[in-house]
Amino acid sequence: MKKRTFGATGAIILLLTVILCSCAKAEPHSASFQSMDTLMTVKVYGGDSDLCDRLQQRIAELDAQLDATDENSEINQLNQKGTAKVSDDTADILGRSLQLSGELGQAFDITVYPAVKAWGFPSGDYHIPTDEELKKLAARIDDTAIKSDHHTFTLPEGAMLDLGAVAKGYAADQCDTILKEGHAEAAVLNLGGTIRLYGKKPDGSRFSVGVADPDNPAGYFGYLSCDGGTVATSGGYERYFEKDGKRYIHILDPTTAKPVENGILSVTILCDDGTAADALSTALFVMGLDKATEYYRAHRDFDFIILTDDHSVYLTEGVYDEFTLCDGYDFHLKKVDR
Ligand code: AMP
Ligand code: MG
Repeated sequence: MKKRTFGATGAIILLLTVILCSCAKAEPHSASFQSMDTLMTVKVYGGDSDLCDRLQQRIAELDAQLDATDENSEINQLNQKGTAKVSDDTADILGRSLQLSGELGQAFDITVYPAVKAWGFPSGDYHIPTDEELKKLAARIDDTAIKSDHHTFTLPEGAMLDLGAVAKGYAADQCDTILKEGHAEAAVLNLGGTIRLYGKKPDGSRFSVGVADPDNPAGYFGYLSCDGGTVATSGGYERYFEKDGKRYIHILDPTTAKPVENGILSVTILCDDGTAADALSTALFVMGLDKATEYYRAHRDFDFIILTDDHSVYLTEGVYDEFTLCDGYDFHLKKVDR
């Protein structure tokens, strides 16, 4: 019987394998976890091997301070007591939110919590308030009346905070510091509808972000190619309830305390600043197509993709040529000029 020997051929194959393996680009590290009431997935190329853990910890730390439904959070304490001294993070996000709220007018207000609660969104115990209740709820929404003195914030009578519209975008911005400190080459952070695209991918390819199909949110109706920034999407499909054949969504018009009904299915924003991207996606949803377009033309430091219920997709100049509709979607793409 012929004896099998490893021999010279085997040695060459082994050597080639070792060389090829060492030349191949390292696979990204990734992790999935539940935080801020949603499933998050982080993928990091290069840098320290514990970066995914550090990102998860940082997001959990922010969630613990900002979650209005958590009795131990600073936001919950502020809502209960009406006045409280808060940490650097909470003071920072409150400052940013109030500044954005000033720019976005009545479409965006971080004191919507009494109305959000009355409709039953945090608990899932849904309820349709009466017109009388809605009037009282709308009167309680006014973040311009919040007072601050360094880290001490005081809410107007009856007001309660909800940072649900900005927390994920703010978390995305905070993750940048960790990625920089840990020398990451690139990262894709999917913080549940808010996606941070960081650095340059090792293979030089651009980032590609799917835009969720409201009828089937696990799938996408199109893809956006971009080189970085934050892509934030707000949609009624993310949280809603139905009663007598009518759908009530979690995005409220602060002037009426009622769920928005304006023909918009989703708003996706591309913007370098994550906190702004998140606030804008919520606010432009509330504004409706015409006011959102006016707002874009007056500011122009972001782009949007707005999907309406007649299957039109409105795309601003910066994203129109970068968007690809998926096969099988008979949607009409319309360019929004500056
Ligand atoms: P997003 O998914 O970023 O659009 O945020 C929606 C969440 O923000 C809701 O679930 C509410 O908690 C809160 N919210 C709803 N309407 C508004 C609004 N007009 N301004 C600010 N926050 C809002
Ligand atoms: Mg938002």
